[in-house]
Amino acid sequence: MATDVIAEQEQRVAELTEKLVSQYPPSSTHAVEFLGAQYDMGLAWVHFPVGSGGLDVSPKFQKIVNEKIARAGGPNSYARNPIGYGMCGPTIVEWGTAEQKDRFLRPLFTGEEIWCQLFSEPGSGSDFAGLSAKGVRDGEEWIINGQKVWTTLAHLSKWGLLVVRTDADAVKHAGLTAVVVDMHSQGVEVRPLRQMTGEAEFNEVYFTDTRVPVSETLGNVGDGWRVSLTTLMNERVAIGGAIPQKGSGPIREAVKLWQQLPVESRNLANAC
Ligand SMILES: Cc1cc2nc3c(=O)[nH]c(=O)nc-3n(C[C@H](O)[C@H](O)[C@H](O)COP(=O)(O)OP(=O)(O)OC[C@H]3O[C@@H](n4cnc5c(N)ncnc54)[C@H](O)[C@@H]3O)c2cc1C
Repeated sequence: MATDVIAEQEQRVAELTEKLVSQYPPSSTHAVEFLGAQYDMGLAWVHFPVGSGGLDVSPKFQKIVNEKIARAGGPNSYARNPIGYGMCGPTIVEWGTAEQKDRFLRPLFTGEEIWCQLFSEPGSGSDFAGLSAKGVRDGEEWIINGQKVWTTLAHLSKWGLLVVRTDADAVKHAGLTAVVVDMHSQGVEVRPLRQMTGEAEFNEVYFTDTRVPVSETLGNVGDGWRVSLTTLMNERVAIGGAIPQKGSGPIREAVKLWQQLPVESRNLANAC
C-alpha cells in the first residue's frame, strides 16, 4: 500500500478516535453508549468492512484507537466480552450472512450480548475434528445433542458459536457444521466447573434436543472445520495481543510483581 494512503488512514483513525472521546466523554457516558458510538464510527475492529464496525483499513491502526480510549479511561470491549470480541466477531464477519452481521456484531461489541465458543468436548480437545456432538436436520431446524467442555463464560452468554457433526459418513473434517446457538434455548444446560481458586469461569454445556434455526448456520453445511480455523486463528491474535487496560494487563502485573522482589532476587540466574 502506498505510503500516503497509509498516512491518510492513520490520520483518519486518530481523528475519529479524538472525535469519539470528545463527543462521548468516558467519565460521563455509559459504557454501552460509548461502545455503540465506537462501533457506529467504524472504530470497533478498524479492519472490518464499513457498516460492520470497521473502516476497511489496516488492522494495525486498531492500536491507535485502543490506546487513546484506554488513556481517556474509556470502556474496553475485549474485557467485557473476550470470546465475543476476539474470536466470534471476526468469525461472523468472515462467514456470516448480511443479516447475521447486522444482528450480532453491534451488541457483541457493546457487551450487551456475551458470546462463548463451544468447540472442545470431553473426547476431543486437541483432536477437535474428532468431535461427536450431533446436529440432525429437521425441516428448517437443526436438532442438537451432545456435550461441550471448558466453555469459558457459557454461564453468562446469550450466544454460542457451536460446531457439531452433521454428516457422520463424511471424512471427519468434512462432516462438521458451525451454528450460532441461543444459550437460553430449551435443552441447553450449563454446569459450572469450579476451579481451585473457588471461581468458576469455565463450564460443561449439555445439549438435549436443542433446536437451532437453519438460518443460524455459519457458512455452508460442511464448512464447520474452515469456520473453526477462522476462530482459532483469531484466538491466537486475541490472546497474544489483548487490548491494554489502563494500568493493568498480565505483562504489567508480572513486571509489578518482579519490582516488588528484593533487588538481589531480581536476577533470574539467582532465582533458578
Ligand atoms: C483457560 C482455558 C480456556 C478454554 N476455553 C475454551 C472455550 O471457551 N471453548 C472451548 O471450546 N475450549 C476451551 N478450552 C479448551 C482448549 O482450547 C483445548 O481444546 C483443550 O484444552 C485441549 O483439550 P484437552 O484438555 O482434552 O487435552 P488433550 O487433547 O487430551 O491433550 C492433552 C495433552 O496431550 C497432548 N496431545 C494431544 N494429542 C496429541 C498427539 N496426537 N500427539 C502428541 N501430543 C498430543 C496435548 O498437547 C496436551 O498436552 C479452554 C482451555 C483453557 C486452558
